[in-house]
Amino acid sequence: LQSETTYKRVLLKISGEALMGDQAYGLHPPTVARIAQEVQSVRDLGVEICMVIGGGNIFRGLQGSAQGMERTTADYMGMLATVMNALAMQSALEALSIHTRVISAIRMDEVAEPYIRRRAVRHLEKKRVCIFAAGTGNPYFTTDTAATLRANEMACEAIFKGTKVDGVYDKDPAKFDDAERYDTISYDDVLTKRLGVMDASAIALARDNNLPIIVFSLDEPGGFRGILAGRGTYTKVYG
Ligand code: UDP
Repeated sequence: LQSETTYKRVLLKISGEALMGDQAYGLHPPTVARIAQEVQSVRDLGVEICMVIGGGNIFRGLQGSAQGMERTTADYMGMLATVMNALAMQSALEALSIHTRVISAIRMDEVAEPYIRRRAVRHLEKKRVCIFAAGTGNPYFTTDTAATLRANEMACEAIFKGTKVDGVYDKDPAKFDDAERYDTISYDDVLTKRLGVMDASAIALARDNNLPIIVFSLDEPGGFRGILAGRGTYTKVYG
């Protein structure tokens, strides 16, 4: 089965909003279960999987600070939101009999393992799905940066960013009929064109370590496995 893909270890990044389904806020368990199935079908190929999930479906630091909350406090709330999402994903993966570890950048030993790099690598070698929670553990960062950081630390071959659209477009495809998708694009073009694939610090960290980012649609059933096998449409950010 491994021959269906050349990838051995990857990181899947999804935003918190991907877990909302059609709701305006929070978690939609059937949607979480569907994404867990996508992860399962890739795990069935023997690929080692890291995950980073955002927290925007529950809380974003910038929103809190815009409403008068102290920024760093608001950011810690955002990081805690990612832990809730990680636990929901763990539960959905375990329902599919997939061994999973939630690994938190902020210590909360009763809830999740602390982040210890060598231990996380060992989990991956044992084919456990590792969900990295609480972002980088630092305010003023995003989970995109956390995803790039962990993908580098875990020596992943690429970050797969699952979104609502099947790649990176020159303008918002939801608003413009003539929006065009890039098959490939360089990190520097993403930055200079301000394409909003990921925030600038995440893109720079990926660029400086030659970590490709593959943007694909998570709404497509079987999409994640297809992309790993080189099928379907996506945008590869590299170079
Ligand atoms: N956050 C943070 N440091 C990190 C990662 C996240 O402070 O390393 C906070 C930040 O407030 C952010 C929130 O957690 O707004 C949720 O993460 P993010 O906005 O990246 O979630 P997504 O947009 O992917 O759902």
